[in-house]
Order: sequence, then structure tokens, then C-alpha cells
Amino acid sequence: MKAGTEWEKDNLTGLLSRRGMETLLASYGDAPEISLTLLTVQIARFGNVNSGMGVELGDRIISLASKRLSKLFPNATALARPHGDHLCMLFEGDQDIETELERLHDFTQRPFAVRGKVVVLNVKVGIATTDDPPTQPALLLQASEIALQDAKRTKLKTSHFSPSMVETAQHVHHMENDLRVALVNHHVEIHRAMANEEFFLVYQPIVDATTGAVVAFEALMRWNHPQRGLIRPDVFIAFAEKMQIMDILGTWVIQRAIYEASNWPLRPDGRRVGVSVNVSPTQFVEPRILLQGIREALDETEIDPSLIKFEVTETSDFAETMKSTLERIRQLGCCTSLDDFGTGFSSLTQLNDLPLDYLKLDRSFIAELDSSNEDQARLSRRITQAILTLAETFQVEPIVEGIETDEQLATVRKLGARLIQGFYFSKPLSGDRVADFIRAVGGK
Ligand code: C2E
Ligand code: CA
Ligand code: CA
Repeated sequence: MKAGTEWEKDNLTGLLSRRGMETLLASYGDAPEISLTLLTVQIARFGNVNSGMGVELGDRIISLASKRLSKLFPNATALARPHGDHLCMLFEGDQDIETELERLHDFTQRPFAVRGKVVVLNVKVGIATTDDPPTQPALLLQASEIALQDAKRTKLKTSHFSPSMVETAQHVHHMENDLRVALVNHHVEIHRAMANEEFFLVYQPIVDATTGAVVAFEALMRWNHPQRGLIRPDVFIAFAEKMQIMDILGTWVIQRAIYEASNWPLRPDGRRVGVSVNVSPTQFVEPRILLQGIREALDETEIDPSLIKFEVTETSDFAETMKSTLERIRQLGCCTSLDDFGTGFSSLTQLNDLPLDYLKLDRSFIAELDSSNEDQARLSRRITQAILTLAETFQVEPIVEGIETDEQLATVRKLGARLIQGFYFSKPLSGDRVADFIRAVGGK
């Protein structure tokens, strides 16, 4: 820490406050002789810890995490808590930032106990330096926060600031404002947006590669905004979660998907096709709403519940409610599936703990299967194989998603995968094209 000055502190952690860090950064002037690197770390989904376990426990976690960081990075020039669940580290000179990052991710993945609960932190990191691209010290905090948003959007652990992110950030900001107006201020607006079919579902087939028959479709949400056009779910779902309106949207998805699926034609061989519905982790905060939505849709359509599958992602928050809710979902006769497997941090525990029927391998491994980098391709093949073996051990049926090429398909089939989803078979289809698809490739 630069000596001789009392920078403003944060009460909870004793680290610098936002203002403290800003004043410190400004004190380096416009063109410092040494290079500076600022890391902004956010504890992923921390809002859920607060709402699920209480603010007091949330504060305790932040304060323990900040103590651990101070110990872990004795060579940091300063540490700060600019707000809420954000912690910052400033480094002077030529630090090996990649090594620091490895240590950081390694550290956060080690569970620790807080008031009798075991907590695992999953963090996202935004990085900005004064060198590349040249950035004034006073702008570093903002730049690292923009990079952090980028990491969250792209689902990466870490992102380095680049100027193009500013435009994206502005675009997302406008979009969020629209969503806020449409969804938060007036609940009526949601119904308007739904009634106007601004939200709609597209369906991507899941194919049994041994027979070529379609066994189910995954429902994927789209928002056709009157001014901004088609908006992808990655962006608006994260925001809907943050604004705690995912329950409303999620219930709509469940009911619409089950209703539409109940009207799909039979396959040529007389079988029915199933539907997979994504459920956001925040929908487990109030499982009552989720379960009621499912029950209503089942009652109304009288569909065979075993045709309905709910896809959930790994989460360290409210793992307990997720477990009991998945049990209830199964009692209703529906199936459960763990999505994006392999990207999380406590994969093995969850596979053992959660009542699951299916497991979906994350697309990132598949994309690298036919990488021109032979080492990379070999590693992905090994991971894919290991996950398929794991699925067998835990008696869950694997689904491989993101298959785009002949080569990827051949590789995963050789490794024993049966259920496949990906652009190779079809991109997500609009509702009215699903029937044709079922008739065409439904299974003989
Ligand atoms: P996801 O659940 O992993 O869904 C698969 C995503 O991968 C879809 O993107 C799909 O279009 C894309 N995809 C499928 N096959 C391929 C392929 O071969 N290559 C490539 N490059 N991409 C492929 P989409 O529709 O943009 O959805 C993104 C994410 O948004 C979903 O990831 C899911 O996490 C979330 N999402 C979508 N709809 C809903 C919803 O109704 N509720 C919730 N909670 N989340 C949703
Ligand atoms: Ca999914
Ligand atoms: Ca997935």
C-alpha cells in the first residue's frame, strides 16, 4: 500500500472502499512510470446467498473471503471492496498475473465453513492494466468492472478489458433498461409481452444417434423486442434472475413448453416425443411456485409426465432446496437433468447428491474435440470419455450437446454416447416447424 496516506476504508472488511481505491488510483497521475494491474473479483451468484441464507451470513462470507485474499496476495499493493460482493486487488509493476489468477481460482474452490455451513465460492474476474490497452489509472476500476461483466456474459472465469467491451456494455445497459421497464415496473407488462408473443420458445431436437429418431426437444426462450429485435436468452435471463422475476418467466416457459409439447404429433412409429425445460437456479428459492407451475401444466394437458424433463445447472447456493425440489419433481413423474456438466466446481458431489436421470456434457468440451491443436483435442476426448464413464457409474443417461460436425459425432459415438443434440442435426426450430421435423425424422 502506498505509504503516508489514509485512504477511505470499507467498514465491513477494513479494505479500501470504492472511494478509497479511486483516490489511490488517481494519485498515480495520468502516465505512471510503473504499470498497474487491477483485478475485480465477484463472488458469483452472491445475491442468492444473501436471499437464501441471510444477509448476516453473506456479510460473514465477504469478510472471511477478504481476509483470505489479503493473506493469499501479500504482494498486492492494495485491496478494496468497491461494493457488495466485489473485491479488488491492485498490483504494481510486472506481476505474473496468470499465476496470480491460478492461485485465486484455486483458493476460491476450496470449501470453507461459515456458521456450520460449508461454502464454496465461484468467482468471476475482470482485469484491466495501464499497458494493454493503455488505460489511465483513474479509469482502471471502471475498465476492470466492464471486463467482469464480459466474463459473466461469456460465462468465462476471467476476462481482460478491451475497448470493444464498452459498446457491448452500453448495448446491454439499454437492453436491461428496456427489460426493467417491460418487466419490473408493471407486472401487467409481462403479460402484455407474453400475450404479444414477444417471448416465445424455439425447440432443438435431441436425437438417438443409434436409430436416428428424435426423442425430445429442448425448449429455448427468445425475446422478440419491438425495438431491438431478437434478443438471446444469455443476456435477458441473467438480468431476469438478478431482478428476481425469473419465477414469472420460468413458469411461463414451463406451461408454454408443456402445452405445446402436448399438441405435437406422434412419431411415425406411434411414440410420443418429450420436451426438456430449462430451470434457472433462482427458481429454487421459492420452489412452491415452480412446483405449482409444473402441477398445473400437467393437470391441464394430461400429458404423460415422464415425457417432461427439467434441466438444472450446478450451483453451490441452495443446494438443499434444489435437491428436495428435484425429488418432488420426480414424484410428479417427471425427469431431471444436470445441464452444462463439467463447467461447475463441485460436479462430483452434485452427481452423487442430486436425484438425476440425465446429465448433459458441456458444449465447451465438444467444440474442442476436433481442434487443430492435437493436445487440446486429446484432452477434450479424455474429459468426454471420463464424463461418460462417470455418468455410467452414477447411473444417469448422458446427453451430448453442441455436436456440429461429422467428426465430433463419430468421436462421441465411439466413446459410447447415444443421445445427441447440436447444430449437426438441427438448430433450434420455431414451434410450427417441430411437427414437420417429427414426421420427417421421428423414427420409423
Ligand atoms: P443451454 O441450456 O446450454 O442451451 C443450449 C444452447 O446451445 C442454446 O443456446 C442452443 O441454441 C445452443 N446450441 C445447441 N447446439 C449447438 C451447437 O451445435 N453449436 C453451438 N454453437 N450452439 C449450440 P441459446 O438458445 O442461445 O440458449 C443459451 C442459454 O440460455 C441456454 O443454454 C440456457 O442456459 C439459457 N436458456 C434458454 N432458454 C431458457 C429458459 O427458458 N429458461 C432458462 N432458465 N434458461 C434458458
Ligand atoms: Ca439446457
Ligand atoms: Ca447446456
